[in-house]
Amino acid sequence: MSKASGYAAKDATSPLAPFSFDRREPGPDDVQIEIAYCGVCHSDLHQARNDWKNSLYPMVPGHEIVGKVTKVGSNVKKFKVGDVAAVGCMVDSCGGCPNCKDDLEQFCAEGMTPTYNSHERDGKTLAQGGYSDQIVVKESFVLKVPGKLDLAAAAPLLCAGITTYSPLRHWKVGKGSKVGIVGLGGLGHMGVKFAVAFGAEVTVFTTSPNKKDDALRLGAHHVVVSKNAAEMEAVQGQFDFILDTVSAPHDLNAFLTLLKRDGTLTLVGVPDKDHPSPAAFNLIFGRKSLAGSLIGGIAETQEMLDFCGKHNITSDIEMIKIQDIETAFTRMGKSDVKYRFVIDMKSLPKAA
Ligand code: NAP
Ligand code: ZN
Repeated sequence: MSKASGYAAKDATSPLAPFSFDRREPGPDDVQIEIAYCGVCHSDLHQARNDWKNSLYPMVPGHEIVGKVTKVGSNVKKFKVGDVAAVGCMVDSCGGCPNCKDDLEQFCAEGMTPTYNSHERDGKTLAQGGYSDQIVVKESFVLKVPGKLDLAAAAPLLCAGITTYSPLRHWKVGKGSKVGIVGLGGLGHMGVKFAVAFGAEVTVFTTSPNKKDDALRLGAHHVVVSKNAAEMEAVQGQFDFILDTVSAPHDLNAFLTLLKRDGTLTLVGVPDKDHPSPAAFNLIFGRKSLAGSLIGGIAETQEMLDFCGKHNITSDIEMIKIQDIETAFTRMGKSDVKYRFVIDMKSLPKAA
């Protein structure tokens, strides 16, 4: 065991505070990473505050992790000490079920092991995330970051990136597609960048009129303020695919009616309370689909990182010290994020 230090939530209501805990020594298949930066995902806030009613405490959040390799086990082939390495939303899975064999570990039949707020596969040890100085992860769940990407701005690719890349690929968004991205936050702004890079015509739907200029700067072709009934009315029936990244319950009918025949509305946001069920009429007329998507498999995450390296895509970030995490959470709760907070782990006090 080695001592790690991080910031943890001890329950659903206390602010995150310094926390010291044990990490395992790397086994033969493990990579130990000194964490340089960790992105702040809205899922961190949901789970720190027990929004999903499944939180395990003490909880060190964080699943957008980048850093340098400090130790490798004897069987490790892809990484050596000093390499840049990254970890996303999961750190293990059964490896043998049909979903794992199809490179879709996120849907592991036994349940994948999330990076934090879970038990490791021994069923006992609490998995702890990236708001910490180091992490030990099985090599097969460690990713490579293309060298030319800014490391801090690459951290959010590990969740916000793959969570938007994967559904855009799965629903074959490309040249000629008319795509809507709902919610311009961490996920949404990456969704815009990917949909534009894939050649789609992209419309951002936002509740924040002050994000209009940013949406266009990020590459969107059009912006609709979703609270404005006239603006929504003007784009009825136009979209092949809409990706909904909103973190709060809202009316899905408003977006289903924007789809063309055979169009799909895919949810990636996970609100604390479910969205009200949409009207059957809005699905039946036009043979529309309502779908969901969960992060992406490890191979696809590497594919996404390589795509970002090739096309120079990273996240727009605001760097914070770990001591400012509660302010960041509060701002995130108010949709005031441009467009991902990233924690500089140099700010973390060293373990005593
Ligand atoms: P975020 O940065 O806070 O962005 C969410 C955006 O949703 C906000 O910026 C805001 O955009 C919009 N929004 C927030 N509250 C709203 C409300 N009451 N009504 C309408 N719009 C609202 O969050 P994120 O990190 O992108 O995460 C978004 C959601 O995805 C979270 O629920 C998170 O847990 C979930 N998530 C899912 C997966 C997955 O695998 N499926 C992975 C990661 C995260 P505007 O200001 O533009 O309206
Ligand atoms: Zn996330």
